[in-house]
Amino acid sequence: MRGKVNLDVAAIRRDFPILAQEVKGNRLVYLDNAASAQRPRAVLEALNRYYERDHANVHRGIHELSSRATRAYEGARETVARFIGAGDVGEVVFVRGTTEAINLVASAWGSYAIGEGDEILLTLLEHHSNIVPWQLLARRVGAQLKFVDIDDEGRLRMEQLEGLLTERTRLVAVTHVSNGLGTINPVGEIVTAARRVGARVLVDGAQAAPHLPLDVKALDCDFYAFSGHKMCGPTGIGVLWARRELLEEMDPYQGGGEMIELVELDRSTYKAPPHKYEAGTPNIADAVGLAAAIDYLTDIGLDRIGAHEHELVAYALERAASIPGFRAFGPGRGRAGVLSFELGDLHPHDVAQVLNDRGIAVRAGHHCNQPLMRRLGVTATTRASFYLYNDRDDVDALCDGLRAVIEFFS
Ligand code: PLP
Repeated sequence: MRGKVNLDVAAIRRDFPILAQEVKGNRLVYLDNAASAQRPRAVLEALNRYYERDHANVHRGIHELSSRATRAYEGARETVARFIGAGDVGEVVFVRGTTEAINLVASAWGSYAIGEGDEILLTLLEHHSNIVPWQLLARRVGAQLKFVDIDDEGRLRMEQLEGLLTERTRLVAVTHVSNGLGTINPVGEIVTAARRVGARVLVDGAQAAPHLPLDVKALDCDFYAFSGHKMCGPTGIGVLWARRELLEEMDPYQGGGEMIELVELDRSTYKAPPHKYEAGTPNIADAVGLAAAIDYLTDIGLDRIGAHEHELVAYALERAASIPGFRAFGPGRGRAGVLSFELGDLHPHDVAQVLNDRGIAVRAGHHCNQPLMRRLGVTATTRASFYLYNDRDDVDALCDGLRAVIEFFS
């Protein structure tokens, strides 16, 4: 631990080589963390060490390097299992990211558990990766999608969610934290409601795992998905956690090497989970990198990271309130470190462009949330998203930048 209450952001920033650079002659102010975070030296070194010393293919080898690579890969799985509170390491499946995890569930579980006339309950807060796989499945099997609306603050309308659950609801698929608004959804309550009608629950944890302490057992959901690159880990690696009984009854998602026990000409038997879902040579190095990222974040403390971001958003909301035309979307309080806003009638792309000229990286667009944007009555927003290495100087730079944007276009 690096201190009891406040994060030592200056020390943390020194761990991230990429943040030391200038962009367009200004200190880089990186506020696009909801899209992808940066990596500390500990992760870069773990990747290097793995490739310089230990790399070989996993599981099938007798030789020393293969044993080391296998230990590193399976050790990474144990690190993930501890991090998310999974009792059983066999419930942790490595995938490319949240998107692949959700597609895996839609394909491997959805194809037998959801049939004609069944219902899948989603929300207007979902990222496209928690909508489109269900649309594909629904079209294939003749199921119906339903969506829970939000209130004016961007919180789920829980009474509507309860009302939309029927005995035909097979799945509730919901984001833990909204990437568009920062809303933190009451997953425990949603699981309790879903259980009343016997529905399964998938939680999209892409924006939660990097920022909140996580305990999948306590959440009591059935599937939990997240991506490494949003939590200081490498791109191309992510996790699907699922209950063992589901992983056992589901068919494999893909077929090939690594996932079989016995292959005959007309049929095969499969390994036990999680290997049943990891066909082909896995992304060994990036799993090792993800474990290093988890160790790094855990050492600092997810509760402290979450509290720090919370404090930064509150400070940003307070400072931006006096900027003419600034309007934030999403809950006023109790939100994660995501700040979507509009600036008068300026187009978000113009806002982001002028901020970029000052070395400030924000995202402008629909954030893969087109149904949510439609619900908010906009086509796009500007989004600043915070992480452990951001500080009040970054917020000040953003607010000064927004005033400069207004001046530029006036
Ligand atoms: N779900 C949410 C809430 C997200 O914010 C994102 C990425 O922005 C995703 C899913 C998709 O993640 P990935 O592109 O890493 O698969």
